[in-house]
Amino acid sequence: MQYDKNNIFAKIIRGEIPCNKVYEDDICIAFHDISPAAPTHILVLPKGDYISFDDFTENADPKFIAAFFQRIRKVAHIAGVEKNGYRLLCNHGKEASQTVFHFHVHILGGRPLGGLVANDPLNR
Ligand code: 5GP
Repeated sequence: MQYDKNNIFAKIIRGEIPCNKVYEDDICIAFHDISPAAPTHILVLPKGDYISFDDFTENADPKFIAAFFQRIRKVAHIAGVEKNGYRLLCNHGKEASQTVFHFHVHILGGRPLGGLVANDPLNR
């Protein structure tokens, strides 16, 4: 799969589509998910053409990867979820139900989140 420069998150990074921004710098942008699955549901995206976790960790510079993961922590603290707890989630590919093919990490929190894949009809 090739990175599609016109995916919705690439457009958000370029400022062509609005978002409810939480944080931005030269490494990442973080904004509230349009369809939140928890009271806190923030997406953190690296600024770079990476399709998924698999692509990012294979192809990005290790220093950039480290900086990106530090930004996730920073965003979790901005959101104020570090005290009660939060979950990080990223979907790679079809069976994980990835829908937007620009790598992003979900920060979920603000309520007890239950089991790892709770309410999933496929989880038998
Ligand atoms: P994925 O399933 O790829 O891991 O997650 C994609 C996430 O992006 C979903 O949770 C979805 O609600 C969110 N999303 C899709 N389009 C938009 C958008 O235009 N704006 C925002 N803020 N979130 C979006």
